[in-house]
This record gives sequence, structure tokens and C-alpha cells, in this order.
Amino acid sequence: MKQRLRFSIRGVVQGIGFRPFVYRVALEETLTGFVRNDADGVTVEVEGEKDRLARFAARLASELPTGGRIEDLSSETLSIRADETAFTICESLSADHTLPTLSPDRYVCADCLREMRDPGDRRYRYPFINCTHCGPRYTIVHALPYDRQRTAMRSFPLCPACAAEYRNPADRRFHAEPVACPLCGPAVRLVSPANGLESGDPVAAAARYLCEGRVVAVKGIGGFHLAVNAADCEAVERLRELKRRPRKPFALMVRDLDVAKRIAAVDDESAALLSAPVAPIVLLPAATGLPMMEWIAPGLRDIGLMLPYSPLHHLLFDDGPEVLVMTSGNAPSEPISTENEDALSRLGADATLLHNRDIVVAADDSVIRVAPRGSVMIRRARGYVPAVLDGRFLPDCSVLGLGALLKVTVTALHGGRIIVGRHLGDLDNERAEDAFFDEVERTLDFLRFTPTRIALDLHPDLASADLATERFGGLPIVRVQHHHAHLAAVLAEHGVPPDECVVGIVLDGFGLGTDGALWGGEVLCGGYTDFERVAHLRYIPQPGGDRAAAEPLRMALSLLADAGLPLDAVPGTDPRLLEILGIVSVSPFTSSAGRLFDGAAALIGIAPRVQDYEGEAAACLEATADPSVEDAYPLPLESGVFDTRAVTSAIVSDPASAPVRAARFINGLADGLVRAALQTGMPRAVLGGGCMVNRLLTDRLMRGLSREGVSVLFPGRLPPGDGAISVGQVAVAACRTGATL
Ligand code: ZN
Ligand code: ZN
Ligand code: FE
Repeated sequence: MKQRLRFSIRGVVQGIGFRPFVYRVALEETLTGFVRNDADGVTVEVEGEKDRLARFAARLASELPTGGRIEDLSSETLSIRADETAFTICESLSADHTLPTLSPDRYVCADCLREMRDPGDRRYRYPFINCTHCGPRYTIVHALPYDRQRTAMRSFPLCPACAAEYRNPADRRFHAEPVACPLCGPAVRLVSPANGLESGDPVAAAARYLCEGRVVAVKGIGGFHLAVNAADCEAVERLRELKRRPRKPFALMVRDLDVAKRIAAVDDESAALLSAPVAPIVLLPAATGLPMMEWIAPGLRDIGLMLPYSPLHHLLFDDGPEVLVMTSGNAPSEPISTENEDALSRLGADATLLHNRDIVVAADDSVIRVAPRGSVMIRRARGYVPAVLDGRFLPDCSVLGLGALLKVTVTALHGGRIIVGRHLGDLDNERAEDAFFDEVERTLDFLRFTPTRIALDLHPDLASADLATERFGGLPIVRVQHHHAHLAAVLAEHGVPPDECVVGIVLDGFGLGTDGALWGGEVLCGGYTDFERVAHLRYIPQPGGDRAAAEPLRMALSLLADAGLPLDAVPGTDPRLLEILGIVSVSPFTSSAGRLFDGAAALIGIAPRVQDYEGEAAACLEATADPSVEDAYPLPLESGVFDTRAVTSAIVSDPASAPVRAARFINGLADGLVRAALQTGMPRAVLGGGCMVNRLLTDRLMRGLSREGVSVLFPGRLPPGDGAISVGQVAVAACRTGATL
């Protein structure tokens, strides 16, 4: 008995070779019909014997290409079309008003690598080789549906050989949108200020430059990298001068897993993460006595490693050093460069390896930290964006969340999905703000999305606040307190329904509180709609505001003054700062855990005078702490306030070594927070905020809570830090009906 079915499939089903896969299965089951990308996903119509249709449907799910995910599959029965003789792949329908999902960028696959190494292959040593299983996606797409003419590849008409592969259903490159070869596709060249355009093999010449200790800018998938030989201390120092980053840890790209294992402790889980199609930077414990730690990640224990992920990277390693520093190519504190002209004029490299395939959307490398209870996302970018979470547990509405100030992302809640955009960095400069405005427009355009409300931080001076009034003037605006957004983000990631309440421990640098102070060491009770602040770190002045975030000694001084201790307990504190301690307009009150970490690190004597990157002092504190120390400083809680004066006195009077004092400090903070959380009687807790990247702290919190039977929700797919703020904002805004604050 013949039948005709139409399947509507939603999820990650574009850009993963889904249509060729459907085509192959349909042929094998001798069905007629078609498959088509549409703006909402993929539509398949199949006609044939009933049992074969059933098998086809089962195989759609069971044999789904890697990287794909079916979120929703519905089918309907249609009337038979006897005139059909074949199964075809149709042109995409242009988009309607629903939401598409695009696959993220993927590393080069083993089949493509093999061809690239084969001297007889027509793509021998071709740096843009790809197929339906691999290659760039998100970063080359101008618009959806995903088709070559809507990508950066539209300026490269296919040669006859590539066109034949593209059209042949039996070929691995059947409908691989970025397909290319040396005849018809993009090309690399090497430009140096000294020699202009270099002749000969540009990749081999770039590798030679790297071996000579020079800085080479390399155009990658989501932006430029600045590369140097990581083993060459002087070369790395020159790169540090260029980037004006004296101590910030640099990510390394290593030739292969064997090299990775010589540099860091790589267990099976880390190895799998390193070799995943996403190819993130994985933070791993460095091998003991590794000399390069001194110039790659001074003061730290972990080192960030990734494997080559574009064909170009593999070619560079053929002739270049086996370990490269691969740090984002940006002018100091600006977003990553994506354009050739920009890279040539602003990065200051000795040579620039560039190409003529445009990067449409920038994407930094993603960063993940491996921890015993699961990995922690630190930066969610290339390979993970766009991230789509099921949002059907929230009220059905369309909200745009604009994030806060640091590590900003834009999130859309629409059509039952939560779509989290790329990491935009800190909005403290004009270029970053421009990138933010572009990202908002792109989100609206790409998702064909018209928000009905806008979710914002409480802070009135953010770029998002201006944008909300100028761009979305007529729409209701929901202002969400920063730490409430952190709590809601973790709830949303775990699909917790709107009527549930939890206790949240939220620790970070700062966010504006409802009382005008800078919050950041908070125990909150609540759900999406509302929250109550049940405990917080004692307010102390943050001397000089932002400057105190850069100079840990300022917080040490504030802690000492607050505890009534002599200021000379710590060498280097400037007593003149006392004069501004009492002026609230200059030294705002803060309950920030991040600032407490800074102050404690300075009191223990391990903080840098000026932090080179956000959280440096806290990172040093964690790296210094002896994990075998079990005891803790006291952190008394009285009327909802943690008395940090007790901690300050304990640190200053403790004769133990820095590693012991650092551990006792972290343990004490964790124990105090656990006690406060337990007092609420809530059966469920969430942990959030940027401080949760600290493994010692989170392990102690988790242990303390689970020991008492409290179940703990921890950020996994989303970062604990401000990269998830926009997610929390949309969830809160969706649940707060009628709120226009
Ligand atoms: Zn491939
Ligand atoms: Zn070609
Ligand atoms: Fe935060």
C-alpha cells in the first residue's frame, strides 16, 4: 500500500549535510518526493510503500549526521502524487516569519584532511577544503535559508568539477555550500610590511616566519589570530608588547594530541573535548615544570590548548613550530579583527597570512574549563554559536535581551526557543559598541524576529539602555537586576518551570543593585518573576570605583580600614587613599565577591599591583591555594550580612604560608555561603556569576550543599559569568507579565 507523508523537522538541521542524508536514505528506501530547507527547518515529502516510509522515519532520527539535532518532528499524511518518478532536493523557499536554526562552524574532517595530504588530489594542500560534514557555517552566512548565494561563497562561482560534486547526490560534497577548489575558490596570500606581497607558497613562507620567531597574523574562521612560536620566549614577549598584555594567559594551538599531552595533563574527557568538531580552547593543568608557563600563563596552573581546526592551521603545522600561541588578533581591548585591511593596518604583525573569503560574522575561539563534575563554559563562541535552548517552558512571547557591560551577548526568546548569540566582549569602547549594535540588527534580521519587549540591566549608563530607547522606543522595557539575571539564566538553562523557587548563590565582579550599591556577593531566593536578597557580603567602599577593580591593593586597604586594622599590615597600600574612602561618589559601596577576592589576594601578598586582565588576582589566588587544606576562616552571618571583617583579621593574623591562607580564605567563603543557603530551607540551589569559574570554590559549594541534600544546578552549556546575563534577562522578562518598569 502506497502512502505520502510530509515531515516538518525543526532543530539543528541546516549546514550539517542533512538534505544529502535525507536524499540517500530516500533512495535506499526507494521513495519518491523531495527535501527542502525552509526558514523554519527542513520539510521532507516522501511517497512509497508504508513499511518503507516507517523505516525512513526511524532512520531520520537514528542515522542523523553528527552535529545535527532534531528538536521537533511532525508528520502529516497527504494524497498520493502518482506522477512523481524520483526523489529530489529542492531549492530553498525564501524565509517566512518563523525561526530557522543554523549549524555552527565545524573543524575540517578526516576525509578532507586525507585529500588535502594527497598529492594526486585536485585539492592537494588547498586551505579551504570542506564537505557537507565540515567547514565554516555560521561565520560565512549573510542570511537564511542556508544556501551558497547567501554566504560569503557567493563571489566564487563553481568550476565544472566542483559543480559536478555539488550536484551529485552520491558525492560527499553534494550541496556542501562552501565547496571550493584551487581553480574556483578563495586563495591565501602572505603580506609583510617589509616585503609587500610575498611570492612562493604563502603558507610555507608564513611557517618559516614563525620558526624565525616572528609574529604572524593569520586569518582564520571567525577572525584573525596573532601567532608566534610558543617555545620562543622572546617572540612571545614581543607579542605581549604588541597586544599590551604583560601577563594575560595566551591560548596555544598544538600540532596534535601527542604534543598536547607533553604540555598538559590530558585525560580521556579532555582529549575528547579537544578533538570535538567544535575544537574549543580547553583549560588544562599544565605539565609540572613546564618552562613556557613562565611566559605563556605566569602565576597560573592551567594552560589553554586547542587543536588545529581549519585546513590552513594544519598546513601551517606541516612546516611551522609544533606549538603556537594563537591569540585573538585585535588591537588592545577591541573586538577581534575580521577584515584584511583592518588586520594589515592595526595588528602590527611582522607578516599577515590572509585570504579573500570574507568573515561575515566574527567569532572568537570558545573556552572551556574541565572540572571533575563536568566542564564549565567560559567563553561560548565559535563552534557553539548560535546556541539554541528549548524555551517552551517559558510563556510564549518574543523578547530581546541585551546583556550588561562585560562579556556581552544578545539573546532572543521567540517561537519557544532561546537563541543565544556570540560573545561580543566588553562594551567599553566604540568598536565593541558598534559590534553590539550590528549584532542586534543581525539577530532581528536573521531570525526575522520582532520583539514585543526588551530586557535590560538596571544600570542606566549602558549602551543597551540607549539602544532600547532609540531603536525600540515604543516597546515595553523590563529592567532585570544583574544577579537576578544570573540566577534566572541557570534556571532557564536547566528548563526549570516558572513557578519554582530556588536559592541562588551569585558571586561576581559587580552589577547594580536595587539599592544603588554595587552588588556581587549575593544569596538570593526566587524564581524568574521575582527575588529576595537573603544575604550579602558586608558593604565596603570600593576606593576610586573602577580603579579599585584594576588595583587589588585598593580593596586590601578598604578591607583593613573596615576591620579597624593597621594599614601597614600590607606593604604597598597608599594611606592617602583613606581620604577618598568615605566619599561615596568616588568610592561606592560594594558587596562584590570579585573585589573581596582581589583584596584577599593583596592581603596574602600574591596580587599584581595592576591587574592585566579581569580576575587576574582571583586566578592567582586559586592557583596559589593548596587544595589539600580543609580548614577555613570564619565568615559570620548576622542579619543577612556576612561579616568580612572576621576574614580580614584572620588573613592578616594567620602566620601560615600563602597557599594555606589562600585555601582557608576560599573554604571560609564557601562554607559561609553554604550555611546561608541552607538556612533558607530551599531544596534546590543554583550557582552563578563569574566567580564560579573558580574550581576550588565551586567544588566546596557543591559538596557543602549536596551533603545536606540540596540539589545544585550549575551552569554547563552556558557560561556562569556575564555571557549568560541576556538569557536570564529574557526569561525574567517573559515571566513578568505587564511589567514595564
Ligand atoms: Zn570534510
Ligand atoms: Zn572548483
Ligand atoms: Fe555578573
